[in-house]
This record gives sequence, structure tokens and C-alpha cells, in this order.
Amino acid sequence: MSVPKRWIGLALSIVASIAMYYHPVSWFSVPKRVIVLGGGVVGLQTAVDLLEAGYAVNLISKDLPGDIDLNYPSQQAAATWASDEPVVDVETKRWYEEGYKQWEVMSQGDEFHSAGVAKRPCFRYWENPPENLVKGGSSALWHSEGVSSFRILKSEELPSGVGFGTTFTTFCVNAPAYLDYLQSRILALGGTIKRATLPVDKGLEEGLKAARLLIADELAGSKDQPVYAYVNAMGMNAMRLADDKTLFPIRSQSIHIKGEAHKIADRIDANGIYYAIPRVGEGVTVLGGFMEVGNWNATINPELNRKILKGCKQLIPECLDDNGEFTILKEYVGLRPHRKVGPRVEIEQLKDKAEFGESIVVHNYGHGPGGFFKSVGASRKVVRLLNGFASDTETPSSSSKEQEVFEGFYRQGDHSKEEDV
Ligand SMILES: Cc1cc2nc3c(=O)[nH]c(=O)nc-3n(C[C@H](O)[C@H](O)[C@H](O)COP(=O)(O)OP(=O)(O)OC[C@H]3O[C@@H](n4cnc5c(N)ncnc54)[C@H](O)[C@@H]3O)c2cc1C
Repeated sequence: MSVPKRWIGLALSIVASIAMYYHPVSWFSVPKRVIVLGGGVVGLQTAVDLLEAGYAVNLISKDLPGDIDLNYPSQQAAATWASDEPVVDVETKRWYEEGYKQWEVMSQGDEFHSAGVAKRPCFRYWENPPENLVKGGSSALWHSEGVSSFRILKSEELPSGVGFGTTFTTFCVNAPAYLDYLQSRILALGGTIKRATLPVDKGLEEGLKAARLLIADELAGSKDQPVYAYVNAMGMNAMRLADDKTLFPIRSQSIHIKGEAHKIADRIDANGIYYAIPRVGEGVTVLGGFMEVGNWNATINPELNRKILKGCKQLIPECLDDNGEFTILKEYVGLRPHRKVGPRVEIEQLKDKAEFGESIVVHNYGHGPGGFFKSVGASRKVVRLLNGFASDTETPSSSSKEQEVFEGFYRQGDHSKEEDV
């Protein structure tokens, strides 16, 4: 029986479309090149995922793992998986789940040991819980079903002054170790990393052009295709590059103390939230609070630090010395790049605008207090968007609904003047 030629053609084009979707860059051609702008956790994770999907990647960043800077929160983060959002859309829920699952794997496998991910119990206490929490219990907390060992604490388990509490198993990440791990993955997968400061106030096209010029040497000597796409993962500066007025900082003060707490714990009082998160493998616990919306102030407020220390004594007594005090190792301010309407992970096409022709930019920024665990799902979305763009199967999307957090988590900052980042 002879098969009609058009059937063979149809079958081949279906196979090609599937192959293009799952591995769009290296089956039939040299890898497509993507330049990732930004070397925070989001840019690094995106670069790893793109390389694993078969793209050629060059990462350019002002700060890189190991650097300490107010505007490089990735290095300063605590960081844990926790839900601060009472309501999540389908995509955000997926990111929470992907982050949780990924860290579960990384907390166990020897191959991930250097990444510094550890599994720990988490305790969350509300002094004055919102009514819907007290009435609804676990049904008012969407994440109660997605995490292991979740339960509402019994009244006899609550510390004095606390009206409601939960416990569940979660993960904490040693941020510097995690960034080092991602950086080494990029290099092992054949990506390149370049330190440079890109212009952000001259418009998106100028920023991209500068990035492209920076890697011109590498492009000239390469068989690879010219730049296929750019990823904007420049944290707070992403707003300048993309002229996005909805990005702002959520500020908090951090204190490193000696000793690793046995758990992750936080408490929400009338001032907001304060927390203790162990930096596993370093013999350190990061104490922090309070989450101030829109406050750019880089100077430590000693009064806030006194409140954090006092509150954390109850949360993690296991780290107190014989005199009932913490040994303070360092104190600093951190700014989380947050976006009013939630993270922006979407494609922007610059048709006929950029001097060097049509360009695709995938924005990946504005992850606020969840940039570490959300980076896993968000970066996978970047890959899907680029794969889908190539085969025209995934539609870009971005949230437009204002993001909610639990009542009492944030407090209003003093709205000091925006500093030059
Ligand atoms: C104290 C604290 C605690 C936190 N706790 C948690 C937690 O428990 N869990 C969690 O998931 N998240 C936590 N976060 C939030 C998390 O750290 C951020 O969401 C995350 O680091 C944002 O990463 P990013 O890559 O988007 O941005 P950034 O870390 O800001 O990285 C941006 C990158 O862009 C580069 N860049 C900027 N401008 C330029 C330029 N002009 N040219 C070239 N490169 C440029 C920078 O150098 C940097 O490498 C915490 C943050 C802080 C401060």
C-alpha cells in the first residue's frame, strides 16, 4: 500500500512542530541565542532553564553572586517558601507548587548539596488574626493543601499574645550558596556571564543595543545565529529599562545572628511581620522585619531592629546565649523589587523599533517577597513563552489585578525619595 505524499508531509510537519515546541532550538538548527539581563536569582534561574532547553545564553549583569549591594536583594535574602497571598490565580498557584516541588527535590539529592536548600518546619503566628482566618481555618489558606504536614495550631500550642497559628513543612535556602550554584550551572551548561552596567534610562531599545554590543566579540566568533531574544531580569532597574511605573520596593531590615534556628518562624503583630529563617550550613539565622511598602530608605532604623530582636527571642529561644541575648553578626537593609499587579512575565515585541531589527524581549521581574521560590516557575514560563513564540502556541499573558497579601503583613513606608539604583 502506498502512502500519499501529502500524508507524509503532514506527518513530518506534525513531528517538526512537536520537536520545535519541546526543543525549538537545536533539533534542526544551531541554538538560538538569548541575552539575559540581570544576574539576580531570577536572571540566573532563567539562564539555567534556557540553557537546559537548548538555547545559547549570555548573561550580563552589574552585580553577580558574591556582591553585596542594597540593590542586589538576591544576595541578601533570607529566603524561604511561604505564602503571603490569601488569594492566588491559577498561574501564581502553579509557581508556588513548582517552587515547592523543586526545593523538595533539591533538599534531598546529593547533587544539589552545594545549593543550600534545607527542609524545615515552619510556624506562623498572628496576634490579631483576620476574622476569615479564625472562622475559615485551613479553608481560608489556599496553601494548606499544597504543603506537607499543614495544620492549625491548637490554642495550647500558641505563645502568649497569639490568637491564631499554623505549622507546615517548608524549605529555606542559603541565598549566597544558591546563587553560586546557579552561576556554576550556567557555566557548566556552556553559558557565558559578563559583568557590565547597562543603560536603563534611555529606553528599552538602547539598553538592548548596549547589551548586544557587549557580546559582539562572542557573536563574531560564533556559528550561532544572532540574538533571538532578550530577557529583562534587572530587578528594580527593570522598571527603568521597561519604563514600568508599577514597580516599587518592599523594604525590611535584616539582622544576622549566630546559630541556626531549628525552624522557620514568623509573627504578625500590630507593626507588621517579623521572622527568623536559618541560613543552613553557615551557622547563622536571619532575623527580619518589617515589610514596608514603597520605602527606599537605606539607613537602618535602630528602633525597628530592637523590635525585631525582642520579638524573635520568643520565636527562636534556641539561638539565645546564656544571658538570653542573640550574638549579632551584621545588620542591613533590603529592598524587594515588587510590582503592584504582581510579577511581569510576558513577551514584548519590538517591531521596527530597535536599530538592529525585530527583537523579542521577555520580561521577568517584580517578584517582590517571593523572588526565590517564584523564580522556578516564572523561568519555566519564560522558556514556554519563547518556545511557544517560535511555534506560535503560547499566548503571552500578564496579570492586571492588584496583588493581595494577608492583612497586617505590610506596613506603609515613609515614601522616602527614590534612590538612584
Ligand atoms: C531581606 C529579604 C528577604 C527575602 N526573603 C525572601 C524569601 O523568604 N523568599 C523569597 O522567595 N524571596 C525573598 N526575598 C525576595 C527576593 O530576594 C527577591 O524577590 C529576588 O532577589 C529578586 O530577584 P531578581 O533577580 O528579580 O532581582 P535582583 O536580585 O535585584 O537582581 C537584579 C539583577 O539585575 C542587575 N542589574 C540591575 N541594573 C542593572 C544594569 N543597569 N545593568 C546590568 N545589570 C543590572 C543587578 O546587578 C542584579 O544582578 C527577600 C528579599 C529580601 C531583601
